[in-house]
Amino acid sequence: MSLLLLGGWPEAERDQWLDLLQAALPGESWLLQPPTAATQAAEVEAAIVANPAHGSLAGLPNLRLIQSVWAGVDKLLTDPTLPADVPLARMVDPAMNEAMVQTALWAVLSLQRGFFTLQAQQRERLWRPPAQPRAADWRVLVLGQGELGGRVARALAAQGYALSAWSRRPVSTERLPGVHGLHGEAVLPAALAQADTVINLLPLTAATAGFFNAGRLAQMKPGSGLVNLARGAQVNEADLLRALDAGHVSHAVLDVFAVEPLPAEHRFWSHPRVTVLPHCAAQTDARSAVAVVVANLLALRAGRPLQYPVDRQRGY
Ligand code: NAP
Repeated sequence: MSLLLLGGWPEAERDQWLDLLQAALPGESWLLQPPTAATQAAEVEAAIVANPAHGSLAGLPNLRLIQSVWAGVDKLLTDPTLPADVPLARMVDPAMNEAMVQTALWAVLSLQRGFFTLQAQQRERLWRPPAQPRAADWRVLVLGQGELGGRVARALAAQGYALSAWSRRPVSTERLPGVHGLHGEAVLPAALAQADTVINLLPLTAATAGFFNAGRLAQMKPGSGLVNLARGAQVNEADLLRALDAGHVSHAVLDVFAVEPLPAEHRFWSHPRVTVLPHCAAQTDARSAVAVVVANLLALRAGRPLQYPVDRQRGY
């Protein structure tokens, strides 16, 4: 049998994964291109993928596992030829978790203490100290309480911020000490109206596409900030620009966009109320992530449950 390693990634990154995987799983046979012959296709046991081209996982009769090396599988799930009956697992990587917490802390701290405004003031040689609100008086709402959202909420609560955390299903408060757990659509308008900073860490699904539209943005507290670290398609960019122009949203920190890389002519690049990041909030580090891939391959072969399986019905 063989293992297929495929993705839309630079060769150097693919080679780093291959080296680490070969070191951890000596003696395996690896394929780095979709098989062309039927005999080769029949040999593929598992596919380790980073958003491969659509169609590249079709026609593999003995495929038993699709392991994504990225956390979000929304793009993978748009492939209509993705084999429906093969288990799909996603990546939860300690290095990525750590980086996401750092990005969220930086964004919240910068918004709370006015550091983005101070950067703009420096360009104008303006000496104007901003107000200094206390963390305890600064309410942060984290949307999504999964692997990343849960960690971000706990880290911000540990820094003294007033934390609300929202998810689809109730989250046990034991998991989130110091955090006000909320769930369901009904409570969302009030939660948005109270938050000084809203952080989006929801997965992209049919239910969350276009989540931040004119209606939801209008529910946000006037002058609050939006931090989108999840997926660009969850924000209606024209609606957000209108809310920013009006000052209703005072600043947006955006790591993800409808079109990436963000086109040079996009208004976000030069908008004084927008901080643009090039989809770098949290990246998988192959050195730690390889352990997840190896553990899932061994679990598959031993008939044990997989780590971080994706529920295709829910879309995450
Ligand atoms: P996850 O573990 O799957 O957690 C998803 C969370 O969202 C869960 O708490 C879930 O609630 C909640 N949720 C899903 N649909 C919802 C809905 N319709 N209404 C309310 N809550 C809903 O995801 P994750 O690993 O934390 O990833 C979060 C996001 O980060 C994803 O969009 C991922 O693509 C993105 N990401 C971005 C970067 C970057 O660099 N920018 C890096 C990695 C990941 P239940 O548990 O109650 O269902």
